[in-house]
Amino acid sequence: MSTVKRGLASASAGVGRSSVPAVPLPGASRPMPLRLPASGASSFAAAGLMAPALRRMPGAASASRSALRCLASAAPAVAAPPAPAGVVSKAHGFTLTRQQYVKEYGSHVLMYTHDKTGAEVISVLNSDENKTFGVVFRTPVDDSTGIPHILEHSVLCGSRKYPIKEPFVELMKSSLNTFLNAFTYPDRTCYPVASTNSQDFYNLVDVYLDAVFHPRCVSDRRVFEQEGWHYELDNKEEPLTYKGVVFNEMKGVYSSPDSVYYRVVQQALFPSNTYRHDSGGDPEVIPKLTFEQFQDFHAKYYHPSNARFWFYGDDEPVKRLQLLDGFLSEFERRPVDSAVATQALMHEPRTVTEYYAAGAGEEGEEEGGAAGGGGGEAQKAYVGLSWVLSDTPLDVETELALGFLDYLLLGTPAAPLRKALNDSRLGAAVIGGGIDDDLKQPCFTLGLKGVDPAEADKVDSLILTKLQELADSGFSASAVEAAVNTIEFSLRENNTGSFPRGLSLMLRAVGAWIYDQDPFTQMQWEDALASFKSKLAAGGDVFGPLIRKYLLDNKHRVAVRLLPDSAKAAAIEAAEKAELERARAAMKEEDLEAVVANTHALKELQETPDSPEALACIPALKLSDIPKTITKVPTSSKALADGATLLGHDLFTNDVLYLEAAFDLRSLPARLLPLVPLFCRSLTQMGTATESFIELTERIGRKTGGVSVYPFTSAVRGQEAPVSYVMIRGKAMGGKAADLLDLMRDVLLTARLDDKARFGQMVAETKAGMESGIISGGHSYAAKRLGAQRSLAGAVGEAMGGLSYLEYVRQLAKRVESEEGWQAVRADLEAIRAALLQRKGAIVNLTADNATLAAAESAVADFLSALPATAAATATAGANDWASSGLLLPRNSEALTVPTQVNYVAKAANLYADGGYELQGSAYVVEKYLGNTWLWDRVRVVGGAYGGFCSFDSHSGMFTYMSYRDPNLLDTIESYDGSAAYLRGLELSSEELTKAIIGTMGDIDAYQLPDAKGYSALVRHLLGVSDEERQQRRDQILATSNKDFKNFADAIECVRGSAGRVVAVTSPEKAGKVLEEKPGFWELKKVL
Ligand SMILES: [Zn+2]
Repeated sequence: MSTVKRGLASASAGVGRSSVPAVPLPGASRPMPLRLPASGASSFAAAGLMAPALRRMPGAASASRSALRCLASAAPAVAAPPAPAGVVSKAHGFTLTRQQYVKEYGSHVLMYTHDKTGAEVISVLNSDENKTFGVVFRTPVDDSTGIPHILEHSVLCGSRKYPIKEPFVELMKSSLNTFLNAFTYPDRTCYPVASTNSQDFYNLVDVYLDAVFHPRCVSDRRVFEQEGWHYELDNKEEPLTYKGVVFNEMKGVYSSPDSVYYRVVQQALFPSNTYRHDSGGDPEVIPKLTFEQFQDFHAKYYHPSNARFWFYGDDEPVKRLQLLDGFLSEFERRPVDSAVATQALMHEPRTVTEYYAAGAGEEGEEEGGAAGGGGGEAQKAYVGLSWVLSDTPLDVETELALGFLDYLLLGTPAAPLRKALNDSRLGAAVIGGGIDDDLKQPCFTLGLKGVDPAEADKVDSLILTKLQELADSGFSASAVEAAVNTIEFSLRENNTGSFPRGLSLMLRAVGAWIYDQDPFTQMQWEDALASFKSKLAAGGDVFGPLIRKYLLDNKHRVAVRLLPDSAKAAAIEAAEKAELERARAAMKEEDLEAVVANTHALKELQETPDSPEALACIPALKLSDIPKTITKVPTSSKALADGATLLGHDLFTNDVLYLEAAFDLRSLPARLLPLVPLFCRSLTQMGTATESFIELTERIGRKTGGVSVYPFTSAVRGQEAPVSYVMIRGKAMGGKAADLLDLMRDVLLTARLDDKARFGQMVAETKAGMESGIISGGHSYAAKRLGAQRSLAGAVGEAMGGLSYLEYVRQLAKRVESEEGWQAVRADLEAIRAALLQRKGAIVNLTADNATLAAAESAVADFLSALPATAAATATAGANDWASSGLLLPRNSEALTVPTQVNYVAKAANLYADGGYELQGSAYVVEKYLGNTWLWDRVRVVGGAYGGFCSFDSHSGMFTYMSYRDPNLLDTIESYDGSAAYLRGLELSSEELTKAIIGTMGDIDAYQLPDAKGYSALVRHLLGVSDEERQQRRDQILATSNKDFKNFADAIECVRGSAGRVVAVTSPEKAGKVLEEKPGFWELKKVL
């Protein structure tokens, strides 16, 4: 499982927003989302979607691996409050079948059945203003044509009541949604929305319900062709090609070896039910899908009798039923055969070997070999073991117990099974996140990547031996205590980041509901937790029997070997070409003409905008629905001794204290910057003066809700020098503030930085993670590369997280192999600490209610007084040298080549430095509008890429176009270059303008839990963004006019044509073809 990046550093920073969307989901068993999260919106990592296990079982919340914690005492007993007004037993064709107060979430949960169709509804009533709706259909498949995935995209392309091209895009533009997306799972399709505004919420629900039940796509073949696949042929002389959004999305997925590994695991574990197919679609099989099959699938499964509906929040409960009945009443109840068959457990372990497309001469001779020596393909296998744990549903307590076991085995880098794999040096990074309960039957997957295939068996036996050892000896009492506290903290805090809590709960409930199990039990973990804890307290062997029953004695086990094949990429391409040539040869002259005509007709349709009259069908809010003034985060600021600052935010946090301490990095010499991310990790992963790595990890688990250390860098508008800090962030119950701060003090001051083996593992993990990342999320690497050319903050970011960083890490892997090299690195780590730690300029940021804040103050004072007043290091070569030290990359266009079937194309310039632009609030409106119209239409709809968007960083001035899983290169750049002319040609009606402004306000006012509010306030403080400036920006946004669109068109002239620079992640073949067409266009840089 890939490292879950918390969305901290990308938290919304006042008027500015983070620039690059998170890398999307790994793994084939992970749901396929309809779109990437928009910039500034929730990242999938923060959404918890990278760790879908969070959904189902409370214990498995630990899959987020965020090391949360404690609250050892049980929650205060809460008497069930009386059911709120508005609960009726019969209304609008529904009958109440069940009603329960769920104390875990302070919610009344009602279940209704629709009398006429049998549709089931869960209606959750509570005080959460972030209202959530979802409809889920069971959609099992018989093949890998990707029907449910294509349908998931297509139903949102127009419907009976909303007969326009893409109501989904209109909602992205104009609603205040806090969540808007859709997901395809291996066995179900899920359509969720959320909003804090009631009218907006019902608008979203209405559009979604009409979309799923009356979509245009089942009568209009063109939608299917656009979203699924079609033959493209501009004229009869050209070669035939495939186009389609899902087709290219899946080509991207199939290019990522991590994704291939998880797919192979799923298919090997489930050889005889629906999971043996890929519901997302195999690019080789997608073109076998016919429109008729697609229509039949919708008719069969998108029916109320096969649907489950979810409402959650503080809105009017009867209104929910009324709205639903408006759609359901025209259907008749009917049986729908959609149950997911159970995979019978096998009696013998099996081994499955598959291949993935690797680069020729991988590891690039000039870059040097893998950590651990050697290099080339010998080091590139993915190896691991997987189990299906059961063929009958597990009870809640067993699921909870398995969640604890999972955490104990793998939940932290110090957990024994994870540590054993890391220490073995058999591979570069752990893969498989342990328990995955996303499917009908829970699975367990674990292994390593970057393994020499000759040593594959050693990985298997290491896992089995370690499990045997742990089954016999058990876990230490301190490890169990840390696990209990961590999981309990996480359950009670229920911090879902920017992901709506109602949606997190829905995914949890649906995980049982969809299999005709009791969805209520998934929300009620309190009793099971108490029972489990009492068993632990009684001292019996709780975990040994679980390890034996579900893993060691369980013969439904598959050993997967995924081996590199440097000929595979070419073979896939050749097979596709041959198939297209075969298809072409089978066409008669008139068939070819028909394909050409269809290609043109489709393009014309795609390029014809909906009329304003048609667009008016989308319900819209009024500008008067938007608050005129900014929402302020309560902030107190206190100057402390020696130039330290204490910020406090009085917010209700349910007795949790959130704390950040920020230390200025700007005195660090530039040459040490690339070492900072690993320095930050080392602080919590090598132990302290008085405790081992394991003991430290357990203390974090026992005493806190988690501690993390990471670098934070941002440009500041109007100045060249960026702000750059190391942040240590943690949370704890209010009464444990002193424990949290003692821990932070120990970590910062006394962390040992001398564990060569652990450091080597972290280097190897980082390298492996970045190499996977560049294939699955190349757009962010391309954008960082461009940012490093025109912004010092961007250059620092690149040096700590872009391609330059990968190059640095590759060198570092070699350096730390020798004792001499390691000693030099160690000295550098200590030099960073010496330059960093000082009271002078330190900022401590607290978020909690006032009483907790006040109580924490003396602990903060103690913490600060333990630090040196000024830095010990002679940091003479300070920030001044960053500008002159060659951090900024030369302005250049580059092709970063990797083995892939798709492209990621970025183009950028700095609107301040290159275009003389002065920031106006309208920039946010225009940026969003451009992304949702011109770029979406040209790059995604017409071009067939999964994503095409732009991002404007108001701090640095960088304006960046990006495409994601894109079949095109030069065509995409041409589309980017057409942006200015497009904006100039716009003359928006006042309705359209209002919609664009409202949609932007939805992003600016994004819903935040209290910790995120406190964090945003800290970031604004660091960047010097005042409330006055935010208000001014808000006023400008609300006053955006057509003229602003034209002004912004002038501003982005500096990105157009040869003025801007291009960086793409692509295959060497495609990069070379561009050079044939445009000699000197870019420099080739082989990455993998
Ligand atoms: Zn998709």
